Amino acid sequence: MSAASDRVAIIGGGLAGSVLAILLARRGMTPVVVERSAAYSSSAPPRGRSINLALAARGISALQRAELLDDIENLLIPMRGRMLHETEGELRFVPYGQRRDEEIHSVSRAELNVTLHAIASGRYGVEYRFDHECVDVDTVSGNAVIASARGREELAAGVTIAADGAGSIVRRTLCEAGVLNASEAPLDHGYKEFTLPATRDGDFALDPNALHIWPRGDFMLIALPNRDRSFTATLFLPLEGAVSFANVGASAAADFFAANFPDTVPLMEDVEADWLLHPTGQLGTVHCKPWRFRDRIVLLGDAAHAIVPFHGQGMNAAFEDCIEFDNLVAAHGADWNRVLRDFEARRSDNARAIAEMALENYREMRDRVRDDDFRLRTEVAFELERRFPERFVPRYSMVMFHPEISYSEAQQRGAAQAGLLGELIGDARRLEDIDFDRAPEMLDRVARSSTDG
Ligand SMILES: Cc1cc2nc3c(=O)[nH]c(=O)nc-3n(C[C@H](O)[C@H](O)[C@H](O)COP(=O)(O)OP(=O)(O)OC[C@H]3O[C@@H](n4cnc5c(N)ncnc54)[C@H](O)[C@@H]3O)c2cc1C
Repeated sequence: MSAASDRVAIIGGGLAGSVLAILLARRGMTPVVVERSAAYSSSAPPRGRSINLALAARGISALQRAELLDDIENLLIPMRGRMLHETEGELRFVPYGQRRDEEIHSVSRAELNVTLHAIASGRYGVEYRFDHECVDVDTVSGNAVIASARGREELAAGVTIAADGAGSIVRRTLCEAGVLNASEAPLDHGYKEFTLPATRDGDFALDPNALHIWPRGDFMLIALPNRDRSFTATLFLPLEGAVSFANVGASAAADFFAANFPDTVPLMEDVEADWLLHPTGQLGTVHCKPWRFRDRIVLLGDAAHAIVPFHGQGMNAAFEDCIEFDNLVAAHGADWNRVLRDFEARRSDNARAIAEMALENYREMRDRVRDDDFRLRTEVAFELERRFPERFVPRYSMVMFHPEISYSEAQQRGAAQAGLLGELIGDARRLEDIDFDRAPEMLDRVARSSTDG
């Protein structure tokens, strides 16, 4: 392999960039990671991106394959279900799954970035260039152009992987050059983060083993635990309109919380200060085609397929990308044409599927979780899984706990199962009223329809 072809330029040393650098270094390649931030610090979370994230089975399985799980296990806080907070303060716990291991994990983005960087550079000798920003792509050479305090230079490499996140400069530059087509579909809701500190006794203010949700119809608050026993709460709210970021504003923030999330008020230090200090983040879905430019450049993670965060799957999907890319490198080495083509072919349908399911899940989280029909459907789905574990897995569980089922298969099976649930439930109001003897024949029909295509 020539020096140029085994050097892999990775633009962006975020979550996907570091995991991919580790995997490629393990294959004997020479990744160089270009990161526009200054060197990471676990006490300074990156601005404008979520402070903590939910890691689910797909991410766990990818980290396990990269032999990284032992290193990050102590960063994880298990969350076994949703804790729903009604306006009157009533709490209701809804488990995510029905097996003991069907849980997700809260992890700090900053701690994860720091740990992955330490392993990449310390254990595998990966070179990171911090304070270096990709500003352009030379479409003749296919190399990235990097700006730093030393000026601008082209980074020659066998292949360049753009892991530079949702706002990817590489994607935007290639679009402007007319070699990629991308659309960024912004959501009309944004987000803002708030801190619920540990109590005076140094304990968690809420149950740490749940993802807390205050569903309020057109908006919601969620909170995930941190290892310092605080919670990070995120408010998702329309950007414009009667109840919106445009209308509420810092001075009305305390009243807004008191009216809508009264049980959080005694737990927060200064809502107004958080409102002012923390930016209102934008959310959206990126659709891009193709993901590659010749055999020279490929997009991966959020750069290729950023999604809205309501299934908690963006990072999980990005880690799955890394494993798929690594599998292809294992099979085809530095035959970049083949690797890049097959990577896009294997991942793009899955990316589309999770993007669609993530958008659907927003309504479920902020609204439908509260209604009786939704509760009954969830109970019936769990009951079907208990009775027919080989034949029925709820769609949410397929996405969150079954990495062996691809996102696109989960979406297809989920659509067929939705019809079955509707038919089985009919007018029933309670689980006891459902005739589960009808289920085997319905499951046969669903199976036949999926094999018929
Ligand atoms: C509010 C919110 C909540 C979320 N919650 C979850 C969750 O619970 N679970 C989940 O799985 N996902 C979640 N996500 C999605 C998750 O954050 C992303 O999918 C994930 O970070 C993607 O990883 P990435 O490496 O592709 O991009 P990033 O993590 O964004 O990393 C990109 C890196 O590239 C660097 N960079 C950018 N531009 C340049 C440049 N020009 N030159 C050099 N470097 C550059 C950046 O500094 C950054 O380090 C959430 C997202 C948001 C916004």
